[in-house]
Amino acid sequence: MLIDFIINFCILFTFAILTYIPFQNRLNVYIPSSKYNPYILGLLSGLTGCLLMLTAINISDFVIMDGRLAVIVLSGVLGGPFATIISGTIIGLFRLFVYGYSTSALIAGTSTIIVGLVIGVWSWKKTMTFQNVSYFFGYAIVQTSLVIGFLDNWKFETWIAIISFILYSIVSFSIIFVILKQLSYLFEKIRHIEEISVTDYLTGLNNNRKFQEYTQDLLLKNEVFSLLLLDIDYFKKVNDTYGHPVGDEVLKELAFRIKDTSNHFGGIVSRNGGEEFSVLLPNTTEKKSLEIANLIRQAIEKNVFQISSGEKLDITISGGISTFPQNAVTFHELYKLSDEALYLAKTSGRNKVVHINQDK
Ligand code: GH3
Ligand code: MG
Ligand code: MG
Repeated sequence: MLIDFIINFCILFTFAILTYIPFQNRLNVYIPSSKYNPYILGLLSGLTGCLLMLTAINISDFVIMDGRLAVIVLSGVLGGPFATIISGTIIGLFRLFVYGYSTSALIAGTSTIIVGLVIGVWSWKKTMTFQNVSYFFGYAIVQTSLVIGFLDNWKFETWIAIISFILYSIVSFSIIFVILKQLSYLFEKIRHIEEISVTDYLTGLNNNRKFQEYTQDLLLKNEVFSLLLLDIDYFKKVNDTYGHPVGDEVLKELAFRIKDTSNHFGGIVSRNGGEEFSVLLPNTTEKKSLEIANLIRQAIEKNVFQISSGEKLDITISGGISTFPQNAVTFHELYKLSDEALYLAKTSGRNKVVHINQDK
């Protein structure tokens, strides 16, 4: 009998891992559209439940035991209410006929369908998570134990069967959920690390690595875009006068204002390092890029920067722009030209933006 339990558990475990990795929502790498997930999961879980029943452990003439409840509950955590209703129905219908139709098969099958339905409706009201999943599973165990007792007339052997059923359910379910929870935690960590590897820690903008990726993507698209580089005017003075922490406050507020203005034009804002920022402007030619850059410049210049000590600072920025493919077709050349334009803005008075074409 023990070996039967182990075989049944192995099928359950394999199912849990194979469905968890593609369907978990932290690293959505395998299935691009999650629209059909509940139906796919419901179907897969239903089929797994059928497989579990084919390797079920015979407790008595009327009662078979397997991991089908864990499958229904797991499908609910990953796929929501529809998944449990679909899997419960498939498994329940299969139970009706798998070992020949009989009254006990009818009761056991109907009970499984009810488990799927009740958990489906319940999880509609309260989303199933790894935290509350034990309540749902507890309900399924209690109902099924009552059905086993009813079918087997509450004999001494029935109690042994119910206790074995409860032990098997709790042990198999706990092992699977501890492992899935651990995986979930690791995936969350990976997602977080991926996010911080492309984010600037101070401002939350894209960092230089992400900026380069975006630029390469735009170059591959081969459509017109402009690259605006921005640099704060006399920022060293701010640091020297008020200290580095205040300089950081200014950088954060500046990042917010640049992003706020750029968002209206689909601009991709990054902090390229220090007090240098960039805005990639897709589908933007010279004229339009100058307009947008001036709006950004004004968003900085027009309103003073209030620092935590209460003082108000006047901050200005300068910008340089070049446009693909008119000015250059490679990343390095484009960056160099925007930087040259920025240098022109600095040397011709600051608080202004220059397009490299204006150099000609
Ligand atoms: P210019 O108008 O020519 O750009 O003058 P500037 O003073 O802004 O230029 P410079 O390149 O001489 O100085 C940039 C300063 O930016 C120097 C550095 O202390 C400061 N800085 C760079 N990164 C950070 C940062 O993360 N936090 C703070 N607070 N300051 C930074
Ligand atoms: Mg600088
Ligand atoms: Mg500067």
